[in-house]
Amino acid sequence: MKSFKELGVKKDFIKALEALNITKPTEIQTNVIPLLLETKTDLIGQAQTGTGKTAAFGLPLLHSVDPSRKEIQALILCPTRELGQQIAKQLFRFTKFSDKIFTEAVYGGEKIDRQIGSLRRPTHIVVATPGRLIDLLKRKALSLSKVDTVVLDEADEMLSMGFKKELDQILDFVPQDANKWLFSATMPHTLKEIIKEHMAADAPRIEASSKKLVNENIQHKYFVCDEEEKLHVLVQFLKSQHKNRGIIFCKTKKATQYLSKQLIAKNIAVDAIHGDLYQKEREKVLRAFKKGNLQLIVATDIAARGLDIDALSYVVHFQLPESEAYYTHRSGRTARAGREGVSMAFVTAFERKKLMDYEKTLGISFERIR
Ligand code: AMP
Repeated sequence: MKSFKELGVKKDFIKALEALNITKPTEIQTNVIPLLLETKTDLIGQAQTGTGKTAAFGLPLLHSVDPSRKEIQALILCPTRELGQQIAKQLFRFTKFSDKIFTEAVYGGEKIDRQIGSLRRPTHIVVATPGRLIDLLKRKALSLSKVDTVVLDEADEMLSMGFKKELDQILDFVPQDANKWLFSATMPHTLKEIIKEHMAADAPRIEASSKKLVNENIQHKYFVCDEEEKLHVLVQFLKSQHKNRGIIFCKTKKATQYLSKQLIAKNIAVDAIHGDLYQKEREKVLRAFKKGNLQLIVATDIAARGLDIDALSYVVHFQLPESEAYYTHRSGRTARAGREGVSMAFVTAFERKKLMDYEKTLGISFERIR
């Protein structure tokens, strides 16, 4: 498997990816990134959400933008406000260490005047839902005359939401020589019409196998409880696990230390690993855990990097992680080697929304336990 560097991704972007804990390219990224970096071409990618497709087109797109040119150079069309916001957020995160590239997301359901105002600022990339983009074009709120690349993300979804006419209009409107990169999970008949009409006949087609970033043997579940109740609910859950082994994740080392003390006070044998431990102490805890002398550890995301422990029945998210990529890494500690595993999140009513975001970006579904 190639690294992002071998795929041709610039150092600054790699640094930003690493900060998001994204280190190994997925299948679609491996196939798409070098192709789009090396050639000016149309492209048809068949890929579902949760395969890493946003970075697959997003990284080449960011490479293609010249930050010193203060004009819209790329347009990304997508079906919903949520997806639009997620794409913009990911692109923003990828540029953490490079020249700033400004992305604006515009979508229906929000005051158009606000968006017109935002578009007056220097903008390099626009992410838009098709209906709203047409409205904005009619009001001359933006110009697409310098657009080099148009991405159609989740094209099948856009069509099933009835956006065929809008897509035709927009694709007629952008410069003739702009490259079009289309991503879709399925290829319905109307989509084939769009491809035939607006894209190069010899556009390469890349299919990602349905293999998702998140292992499909993992059952994702959650409890809703208040902060004060969390410990009690966790203890009940741990008791139900009997001899099963697991990891509990917290966001900070302070939280791991505090939680492990609380659990020990409740007679639950546990140890914590976090960045402050000396290597020797860390190894001691890990050895005990690997050998099976210890059933349970509490860990931070960083400390758990590279842990390779088989036969973990569950992971607990006592606190949700910073980013979705960490959720993938955390939950990937269970269900190894074809086994089943449970990824259990403890969330407050307020945090539930984050789980819905995970469902969309990671292509998984959660079952509510309480
Ligand atoms: P997408 O399929 O583009 O919606 O991406 C789903 C999620 O996976 C996002 O939260 C990304 O940050 C994350 N992600 C993308 N590429 C990778 C990768 N190579 N390794 C781990 N996580 C990734």
